[in-house]
Amino acid sequence: MSIIKLHDLYFKPFISENEIKSIVKYLANKVKRDLPKDEVPIFVGILNGCFLFAADFIREFEGNCEVSFVKLASYQGTSSTENVKELVGINEDLTGRTVIILEDIIDTGTTLQEIYNIFRNKNVKQLKVASLFFKPDVFRKELPINYIGKSIEDKFIVGYGLDYNGLGRNYSEIYQLSTPPTMKNIVLFGPPGAGKGTQATFLKDMYNLVHISTGDVFRFNIKNETELGLLAKKYMDEGDLVPDEVTINMLKAEVEKNADANGFIFDGFPRTQSQAEALDAFLADKGEQINGMVALEVPEDLLVERLLERGKTSGRTDDTDETKIRNRFNEYNTKTAILKDYFEAQNKYYGINGVGSIEEITQRIAKVFDTL
Ligand code: AMP
Repeated sequence: MSIIKLHDLYFKPFISENEIKSIVKYLANKVKRDLPKDEVPIFVGILNGCFLFAADFIREFEGNCEVSFVKLASYQGTSSTENVKELVGINEDLTGRTVIILEDIIDTGTTLQEIYNIFRNKNVKQLKVASLFFKPDVFRKELPINYIGKSIEDKFIVGYGLDYNGLGRNYSEIYQLSTPPTMKNIVLFGPPGAGKGTQATFLKDMYNLVHISTGDVFRFNIKNETELGLLAKKYMDEGDLVPDEVTINMLKAEVEKNADANGFIFDGFPRTQSQAEALDAFLADKGEQINGMVALEVPEDLLVERLLERGKTSGRTDDTDETKIRNRFNEYNTKTAILKDYFEAQNKYYGINGVGSIEEITQRIAKVFDTL
């Protein structure tokens, strides 16, 4: 999950699809349990916001039921307004029926008041209200809400049917209003030996970014014989990837150490799909995002040559043995190369010709960095 932009505003992930699913299920079960055995309720959804909630709720509800909708207008922009009115009414005869209102969210209670007004004269047997979300801090009415899925703070939320000026209803998760992202975060990508580390040392100064090389952090830990180093060593020596969980936690710690950074150049991370997803979620949580993946494209034969050459002076055992180098390429091709698709799907992939002089390549990358 990444941050999203709707009109002029940014939103960050707040409630996951899974959590929503379990809340909806809980509500449907609870409503069912409270009904007399053969009671056929009529669920009335309050449009537009409730359409996904209502659809999921009634599928979780076990037993016969009827479904209807009313449409009320209440929101302009991001704050609740007082003038609520009924736009599309109920056609069913509700006399003697159990009516259960399905609301996506109740905040000030103005809409809820309107609902109680509308149903007061319909001779229903009982009227109950089930709301997916509730904002207790801003609720200003003395009206019963029989079922509450989740109480939340007074934050403006979108997604799962809820909108900001018409947009955002189609997301499966709930997002909350966030400040605009301030960082420039770039993934410097490419196979082993492509020159990521070399380029990053120039680019971090040019753009005032913090360079995080996961390989360097591992090597530092190995040198200092830390617990992390001992763990990583056996994988690195073989040219295998260090397990995701270890790498992801380490990466997060490195980012946290530089909380005031203008942004990061991630070098050697992410290297797997789950690392990429973890990075997206981690940054989104801070209201930040990856601006782009800049990939150095270099033919494999040239890379092996470069790595063997580097191995003469780098002191890296994984650079001197061609079998280990080949294994690193194998890891790259089977686990890492697919990240091109991952970032391309988000329109964030920028391929760069990685063959040429160091300066030439820096210039090519800078051209892309300037646009991100
Ligand atoms: P590098 O310096 O980027 O070539 O990385 C050297 C070695 O560190 C790799 O071959 C892996 O064993 C380990 N490593 C570095 N980054 C990662 C990562 N993101 N995920 C797993 N292993 C990594």
